Amino acid sequence: MLTLHGKGVSGGITIGRAFVLRRERIKVQEYVVPHAFIDSEVERFTQAVDRARHQLREIRDHIPGSAPAEAVSFIDTHLLILNDTMIAEAPIEEIRRNQWNAEYALKAQSDRLIAVFEQMEDPYLRNKKVDVTQVVERVLQNLVNPFERGEEPIPDNLGGRVIIANDLTPTDAVVLKNRGIGAFVTNLGGPISHTAILARSLGIPAIVAVHGATRYVGNEELLIIDGKRGVVLLAPDAEIINEYRRRARKIERARRELDILRTSEAVSQDGVAVQLLANIELPEDLEGVQEVLASGIGLYRTEFLFMNRKKPPDEEEQFEAYVKVVRALGGRVVTIRTLDIGADKRADLDTPVSVANPALSLRAVRLCLQEPGLFKVQLRAILRASAFGRVRLMIPMLSNLDEVFRVMDLIHDIQDELRRQGITFDTKMPLGGMIEVPAAAVSADLFAAHLDFLSIGTNDLIQYTLAIDRVDDTVNYLYDPLHPSVLRLIARTIEAGREQGIPVAMCGEMAGDPRYTRLLLGLGLREFSMHPAAMLEIKKIILESSLCELEGLAAEIMRAKDSRKLHLLVDSLNATDGPSEELA
Ligand code: PEP
Ligand code: MG
Repeated sequence: MLTLHGKGVSGGITIGRAFVLRRERIKVQEYVVPHAFIDSEVERFTQAVDRARHQLREIRDHIPGSAPAEAVSFIDTHLLILNDTMIAEAPIEEIRRNQWNAEYALKAQSDRLIAVFEQMEDPYLRNKKVDVTQVVERVLQNLVNPFERGEEPIPDNLGGRVIIANDLTPTDAVVLKNRGIGAFVTNLGGPISHTAILARSLGIPAIVAVHGATRYVGNEELLIIDGKRGVVLLAPDAEIINEYRRRARKIERARRELDILRTSEAVSQDGVAVQLLANIELPEDLEGVQEVLASGIGLYRTEFLFMNRKKPPDEEEQFEAYVKVVRALGGRVVTIRTLDIGADKRADLDTPVSVANPALSLRAVRLCLQEPGLFKVQLRAILRASAFGRVRLMIPMLSNLDEVFRVMDLIHDIQDELRRQGITFDTKMPLGGMIEVPAAAVSADLFAAHLDFLSIGTNDLIQYTLAIDRVDDTVNYLYDPLHPSVLRLIARTIEAGREQGIPVAMCGEMAGDPRYTRLLLGLGLREFSMHPAAMLEIKKIILESSLCELEGLAAEIMRAKDSRKLHLLVDSLNATDGPSEELA
């Protein structure tokens, strides 16, 4: 049995077969190579074969000693195929004889070989065509410019299979949502990437930064995924499978025990009520929200309505999507965040894209203010939906007070327009802003003076404060919600809200992580917004906590002089009624 390790970003256990998502399936083009360039075409081909050979040797040399002998012999077989004259030399003759380009010559040769294997009676030999295809694909990858590569679609029904991919985009995650995925594992990625966030809100086990996952895991291979510990077990034996089935049942039991808290109010031991709100991406997420009886929606990430399509949804489609949620929530609050496209959340829309440094570029409110045509349609749809319940409008990624004023101007214009058209809306709809850029947190008092509520987006606040790209696995190790600078910005924002007398929520992943609940309560946070799957565990902690005690302890944590001491203090803060080991 082989074990791979990565960063567990969504807990739970899945036992299932792998679906290895290879994005690089190549569409081979045919073209005629002029006589004068035949030699360099041959050279291009031999270099690609050499590179493939080098890659295979590298893989073989890095197979851990504990891996089964088959892992090494699998690579050796590929090396043998690659060195065979049928692959390494026959295409060269075709390039010279037919003036074919290297890719086409290789593809033609491999099609002939595969046809021969397919004729074979012996199933073992017939299966060898898979190895030939994989070797040819590897050489093609070394030949073809990455921009010419086609993309393999995700199958319609995954039947509980585990997706193994180099990386997955949030758009992929939306697609996977509806296709029966059992878990996913990626070579790259970080714990607060939007893809990881979606995994948690879906309640599917997920592990990122498993370097080499796509290299070591074969299609249809049986796997165990332990999403909490970040462990992938390949080819587990019956005993291990039974052990993990037992653990999965234990997790399920712990979840069911929490179910009895669904109907209790989130009130602390000393009688302080805390709002537990839900984060959603699409109207379909409502089921989870209703299951845990959330007090409302603290973050509706509307950008997901704009993904997987060429044209943005029109006003009517957006209105329907918003009003569906507003109606379902009855009188409960629904915080609709305006479009936060950009950085790792790409849409295929015809809006400007920066390739250099997208997280610092035209994202969220910046993009919306630059594209008022797009923005106004959304604002109109949200205002119209506000007539049907308790809508709050929230602006993402504010870094400058002027952005607030510009959004207010647009809202006033639209309100006048709606009045003229006799369309109703909530004239008192609260306008809030996300505090997720350090500049906004430092000046939270200035924002609090003009807004009706604030919501701390710790995912971006941590990314921008600590200068760590949230999707870059090489800097994952620096991700730390307890970094003193992050905590000071959070405390400052909560304080600014208190002084101004406006509510302050938190809707980043930190709000749904039981490790930080007691500290945040101690800092004065009273609105937590999270994926519904996390809510009952957080409620349990609130029910068992006495907030007046936590305030003193939180103040001590804020005074801690070094990070190690700070982490230890948080551990002791959680020690008494800390989160259950299994669900954390
Ligand atoms: C955040 O940044 O914390 C947040 C909630 O917004 P998103 O994760 O969508 O960027
Ligand atoms: Mg954000």
